[in-house]
Amino acid sequence: MNFLEKKILEEAIVLEESILKVDHFINQQLDIEILRYIGQQFATHFSDKAITKILTVEASGIAFALATALNMGDIPVVFAKKGLSKLNSDDYSAVVYSFTRKQNTNIWVNKKYIKAQDKILIIDDFLANGSAVSGLIEIGTAAGAQISGIGIVIEKSFQGGRAVIEEKGYSVFSLARIASLANNQIVMAE
Ligand code: 5GP
Repeated sequence: MNFLEKKILEEAIVLEESILKVDHFINQQLDIEILRYIGQQFATHFSDKAITKILTVEASGIAFALATALNMGDIPVVFAKKGLSKLNSDDYSAVVYSFTRKQNTNIWVNKKYIKAQDKILIIDDFLANGSAVSGLIEIGTAAGAQISGIGIVIEKSFQGGRAVIEEKGYSVFSLARIASLANNQIVMAE
């Protein structure tokens, strides 16, 4: 069991058998030891991919994208903004369904920040049904960039996100994989 999995098992709280509350080290307060660990793990795993840019979505993905970038030669981090863009031709945008808020949200990135020659590493805090990552893939590919890696901090493997992303032809690397939250018990995948 790795450092992050141990922290989740010991400290995370389960809500409604499907949502993991990790506000005190991932989603509101950031535990810097965990952040450093996550950045190092992603940077090591994707070190041979010649990544030129990290793409995430505000707000929770930014810290992990940054921690990774600091370990990958200070490559730029771009984060998709949530909400209505001006919906003009200056932006790439996608509609994502928010698993936690149960509503559609528009995410967008200005075209200046992703170019066709970019090799993109997508980073996010959670993978549930795969909508956020799918939206980021849509934005990256609309720019003509290559999606060269997908790194997830916490994957809930009992939801369909991994299959959705793999069906699009991409592989997913997750630092912690949760097999079940049934009966409010956290069970890690093997
Ligand atoms: P998906 O788009 O894969 O369905 O859900 C991923 C997004 O929803 C993540 O960006 C994350 O913000 C949020 N999310 C999904 N499941 C959880 C969860 O169990 N806990 C928290 N804190 N956020 C989640």
